[in-house]
Amino acid sequence: MSKRKLSRQQRWRVEKIQAERAERAAKRDARDSDKLAAGEYGPERPGRVIAHFGRTLDVRPEGGGDAVRCHLRANLEGLVTGDRVIWRGREDAEGAIVEGVVVARGERDSVLERPDARGQLKPVAANIDQILIVFAVEPEPHPNLIDRYLVAAEATGIAPVLVLNKIDLLPEAGGPLLELLHRYEALGYPVVATSVAREGGLAPLLDRLAGRTSVFVGQSGVGKSSLIDRLLPDEELRIGALSKDSRKGTHTTTTARLYALPDAEAGELIDSPGIREFGLGHLDEQQVAAGFTEFRDLLGRCRFRDCRHRHEPGCALLEAVERGEVHPERFASYRRIVDSLEP
Ligand code: GDP
Ligand code: ZN
Repeated sequence: MSKRKLSRQQRWRVEKIQAERAERAAKRDARDSDKLAAGEYGPERPGRVIAHFGRTLDVRPEGGGDAVRCHLRANLEGLVTGDRVIWRGREDAEGAIVEGVVVARGERDSVLERPDARGQLKPVAANIDQILIVFAVEPEPHPNLIDRYLVAAEATGIAPVLVLNKIDLLPEAGGPLLELLHRYEALGYPVVATSVAREGGLAPLLDRLAGRTSVFVGQSGVGKSSLIDRLLPDEELRIGALSKDSRKGTHTTTTARLYALPDAEAGELIDSPGIREFGLGHLDEQQVAAGFTEFRDLLGRCRFRDCRHRHEPGCALLEAVERGEVHPERFASYRRIVDSLEP
């Protein structure tokens, strides 16, 4: 909000608009209550939000079927794509569900947040099982970049997976990139190699996606669009999934969308430009340290409780680097990330 002072006239107008808006919402809610009470809406059913546009959402009924355009009860705020919900549908004369109302939100297993224009963290998607961090043979990744993504992923509590893309460009002998991958594998991170340019190049990725809800993140140019184009080749899969209302609507989708991969068991993707740009958000030093999985058992073992793992005597981390238990490049990476944090 701009700091500019509003004139009394302007302030009055703003207040009036806000009051009108609140009144409309209250009316809509009262209408919904009437309809719910009158039994115009069918029984409560489970579903999942596949897209949202302000106060309207597209909900896919559990077990499949066309998405239904739903609105929210006034007491429900902040639903995001991927949320599990309870909704009720209203049928037309032919018995087709024409619209619905979401009456409750289910528990969330996980939430992905992004800073909004004011720098405040806002949820953008929920119930994600894994964050696929895509990097490629070209453009060559800086090892520090992978660590940044891993730290950001660890902070969300959502399991990260490393996806090395464009392996058709790897040298015969494999090269240092594969060695780097083995290092992450040894740390316990799942690693998947992919290529859209190679026959069968997506098989390991498809295995990884099966039965889970995933998001793709990564630097521009690593091949995310190419991967998603191949996973969802059919335009119908992308557009068709939306409710009829959303399809005709003017909603251009910068909002996160949930896509079901073609096979029933193949898994689901949540995607949006904002999600792809997911990176190191507002983290503090402790979160960065906690984002290095091999530090976890060491943190809290330093002699000083407020140890910053720089030059302190009795630092458990520095000693572990010394003993070769923590890779020096990972430790250097940790330092670089901490040094880059805004004070
Ligand atoms: P995004 O920015 O992450 O979405 O990346 P794009 O999907 O736009 O891909 C960037 C470039 O990499 C494009 O020129 C693609 O043609 C190319 N590319 C994508 N996947 C592969 C691959 O598996 N092998 C090769 N050699 N090139 C690829
Ligand atoms: Zn320490």
